Amino acid sequence: MNLGLKDRVALVAASSQGIGRATAEAFAAEGCRVAVCARNSQTLQSAADKIRKQFKVEVLAEAFDVTNADEVSRFVAAVAKKFGSVDICVTNAGGPPAKGFLAASLEEWQRALEANFLSTVYFAREVIPLMQRKRWGRIVTITSITTRQPVTDLVLSNAVRAAVVGLVKSLANEFGRDRPLEGVGQSPRSGLRKKRGGDFRRLGRRCSAAAPRRSPRSGRDHRLALFRARFLHHRPDRAGGWRHVQRFMKRKFLLVSVAMCLGPLAAAQARPFPGPDVQQIYQRLLPEIEKIPAFDHHAHPGFSDDPDVDAMASAPGTSLPLRTRDDNPELIAAAKALFSYPYDDLSPEHAKWLVAKKAELKKQYPGAAYFNMILDKLNTESSVANRAMMADYLDPKRFPWVFFADSFMWPFDNRREAARNPDEEVYIPLQEKMLHRWMQQENVSKLPATFPGYLEFITQVLEENKKRGGIAMKFEVAYFRPMTFSNPILQQADDVYRKYAAGGVPSEKEYRTFQDYVFRYLIGEGGRLDLPVHIHTAAGIGNYFNFSESNVMNLESILRDPRLLNTTFVLIHGGYPLEREAIWLASMKNVYLDSSLGELIQYPSAFKDTLKMWLETFPDKITFGTDCFPYNEVLGAEESYWLGAESSRTALAAALAEMISENEITEPRALELAHAYLHDNAVKLYHGRVH
Ligand SMILES: [Zn+2]
Repeated sequence: MNLGLKDRVALVAASSQGIGRATAEAFAAEGCRVAVCARNSQTLQSAADKIRKQFKVEVLAEAFDVTNADEVSRFVAAVAKKFGSVDICVTNAGGPPAKGFLAASLEEWQRALEANFLSTVYFAREVIPLMQRKRWGRIVTITSITTRQPVTDLVLSNAVRAAVVGLVKSLANEFGRDRPLEGVGQSPRSGLRKKRGGDFRRLGRRCSAAAPRRSPRSGRDHRLALFRARFLHHRPDRAGGWRHVQRFMKRKFLLVSVAMCLGPLAAAQARPFPGPDVQQIYQRLLPEIEKIPAFDHHAHPGFSDDPDVDAMASAPGTSLPLRTRDDNPELIAAAKALFSYPYDDLSPEHAKWLVAKKAELKKQYPGAAYFNMILDKLNTESSVANRAMMADYLDPKRFPWVFFADSFMWPFDNRREAARNPDEEVYIPLQEKMLHRWMQQENVSKLPATFPGYLEFITQVLEENKKRGGIAMKFEVAYFRPMTFSNPILQQADDVYRKYAAGGVPSEKEYRTFQDYVFRYLIGEGGRLDLPVHIHTAAGIGNYFNFSESNVMNLESILRDPRLLNTTFVLIHGGYPLEREAIWLASMKNVYLDSSLGELIQYPSAFKDTLKMWLETFPDKITFGTDCFPYNEVLGAEESYWLGAESSRTALAAALAEMISENEITEPRALELAHAYLHDNAVKLYHGRVH
């Protein structure tokens, strides 16, 4: 039976024999990691060995007396250390002797209290904080029917076990706040005796049937009742667990089980610092996060001698931030990880080894197989190829194309534009080249005579690019002009076009008006053609990148324009270093943030804080990207891919570990968020065209 308890940690007290052992076996059968304890070390160890062997699960066994609070505390700590937490705690102890009231000594009262009541208190005190941290937990106590109806000569049990029920009901109220529960399952002696095997299950059914009647809040209670029923269903097989139950039943004629639940939303207040467990959680999460196949939402794959990698070039004399320089020693770590690079430096001789190794691999993995192999090594399922044109050495199935759309905004004589500064002197001719290539693609030899004709040409290119596998259009407009866009009417843009299509240099104001119109037109077409619009939003390279004019918040006039709601926007690089502000743009349902570049410029310790802040704000609106780029002929897109992916995965694990440790989310939720960020959030933007 699969009850979804696999890998849960179940602690069962007094579990070397009897119902305790049957319960431990039942959890083991479900794939739980099991912690068992009892006083007698020998029987306990042999029970633990059998459980390990039979169910192939991890078992922690320690012999001690549950009436000793310190020992209970030490044991729970050992379980948490070994397994990370305690998810299910079953308290259990042998019953007190059968006596009438006057026959029972004070010592016996004391012992009954210690064994049957205080032991539950001890366990609950230790496990509840652990369950609160995970926001998931179940406490189950095994008691007796005497809690509902006193049985003659069982006064110790009648009184003390009733106290346990009172305790568990109180715990349920206090800690299972949104799922109040007091679940009681019972089965009369006769039922249990009649048939081997069947009664425990009947007990479960009875439980679920009875619960709604007991509580008016039936939806939640029903779930809990079901849980109890399922819990009580737990049995490995008739030869194993059942026998123990049966034996137990012969001695103990009645049984009541009470469960306490901490629902997944049980209130646990977030706290401002991670606990001492944060490293441990990180170590647990990272391997899980490494296993998630990623969708790289922004990258420039290609070889360093390929001119189509970008529609841009770096400006002369650019000063790159420290970590993105090609002497970053982490790139050597990348070469080691990807190519088993045997050296610790990149001296010219050693660099030759790396160049030769890559050449050899390209022969071994010809054509598109080479970069597919690189993606496999990174556990990246697909990577966007943000390129001027696609390359035949990239597999379009795994490298969906994102093309550049800025050049449509620079169709006129750009002399004045290019003369603005040395950066533009490099950039603007490349835009002209790009526009020329689109014209070639559409067999257009010169600019169309009319502005409507020009817009038609733009649409043709977009449609053709989509046919060629383009999944989105990308703007790097921040490099060429301010990111504030006015809202001119068609006639204004038409006037400028008519004046300058055949020649002449437009004034700055005229050019802006024209560009503002064309930009909005392109975005509108992006909505109509289901081509999401990617916009570079980060500090740019070059000495003349005007950050105040190009900062991401200037895009609000576009992003919050209700006429553009049909278009999906991806803010590439998440507005870095204004990522704190930028995440609020994702409050628009059609706006997403991509984290690429942030993970390369920042070290993981800082990038972790960015991701955490985003995950705490709009976790469904953020996507992973590397912005990988070939550095030079030695260090290529491969190393850059590796550094971006590794930095993102480690920072993600660290951000989520802190969030878990600070009581913000549970571990299962953390893994959901990891899947969303690394893959799902981006993939869903393309309606089945990428995976
Ligand atoms: Zn980029």
